[in-house]
Amino acid sequence: TDSITVGELAKRMGIKANELIRELMQQGSMVTINHPLDFDTAALLASEYNYEVENVAFDEATILEEVPVIKEGEEAPEDLRPRPPVVTVMGHVDHGKTSLLDAIRAANVTAGEAGGITQHIGAYYVELEGRKITFLDTPGHEAFTAMRARGAKATDIVILVVAADDGVMPQTREAINHAKAADVPIVVAINKIDKPDSNPERVKQELTEFGLVPEDWGGETIFAEVSAKQHINIDQLLEMVLLQAEVLELKANPGKRGRGIIVEARLDKGRGPVATVLVQEGTLHIGDPIVSGVHFGRVRSMVDDRGNRVDEAGPSMPVEVTGLSGVPDAGDLLYAVEDEKKAKDVAQHRQQKLREAELAKTSKISLDQLFAKI
Ligand code: GDP
Ligand code: MG
Repeated sequence: TDSITVGELAKRMGIKANELIRELMQQGSMVTINHPLDFDTAALLASEYNYEVENVAFDEATILEEVPVIKEGEEAPEDLRPRPPVVTVMGHVDHGKTSLLDAIRAANVTAGEAGGITQHIGAYYVELEGRKITFLDTPGHEAFTAMRARGAKATDIVILVVAADDGVMPQTREAINHAKAADVPIVVAINKIDKPDSNPERVKQELTEFGLVPEDWGGETIFAEVSAKQHINIDQLLEMVLLQAEVLELKANPGKRGRGIIVEARLDKGRGPVATVLVQEGTLHIGDPIVSGVHFGRVRSMVDDRGNRVDEAGPSMPVEVTGLSGVPDAGDLLYAVEDEKKAKDVAQHRQQKLREAELAKTSKISLDQLFAKI
């Protein structure tokens, strides 16, 4: 029960399903009567028909559950544009994830740029001959699992880092399992090839056990042999990522209201709540009314990872956003909505549901305690 169909929502609001389908079409989604809508979409639609969201019957478990609104392939093809791949680096501790992210970034940010290379917003993009790649620069596994637990898919490609002198280790296996469960393709970066005791062939051999077979061994997995420390083959790795991305034919519609995922968020003394948002659909603009988790507001400012102020951010772009009323959780979705009242309605509805859920929990505990005493 994590969704409601178009037909059911129409029925509950006492309108014709066709009317709702037309409304959704105007918003850019082609759907049928049996199409499932997640809570956010349903709540926003309902408010467009002047329904208090409270009037729409959702069970509590549904309320805070967020799944991506529009699955790929459901958009009108003519609205879709290619978008950069979003990449997460995963692998065993000390195999060089941080070093690799640093090397990729250092190779791509020129000294003169506003933020230099020190600005850390939890995500950044690089450019290779005009083609962009977005990297999620968060503690890999946790962020990945947190987002997946919320049903959000934040990553298109996983770079699996394996140290050439150490081979497959427990967290390597864990990373492979995560990627497979999320159906995300893996590009293998065999790292530390500068070390005298490095043995890339052994790593390749070990990985075949997991179905990761290099192309020159007759398999389908793309491998690169790199040194994050000595900056060897970093560009080649990026080329491989772009090659993998081409196969995926990643597209999004930049022409609608923005929707993104919170990569990280914090409270800044001067600027208030600051959230790094990875835009996934549509385009986010300065001034857009937004809602994320139980917080709402308007986009007051947007800054990219290089410290440049931007007025808009399209699909796959990470930006630091200010203007929310509070600090959302990593993995929360952020929606631009029609007006601030709707943003507020949704946020307040969620706050209320959260309070109710907490109250229910407390009373359940005290009941349990009561029974325990009897
Ligand atoms: P993480 O735990 O996966 O983020 O690994 P780090 O990036 O923190 O690297 C762990 C250690 O390996 C550090 O001491 C790095 O300097 C070292 N290291 C990372 N990449 C390389 C490499 O390509 N060659 C060598 N020789 N050392 C590396
Ligand atoms: Mg690290």
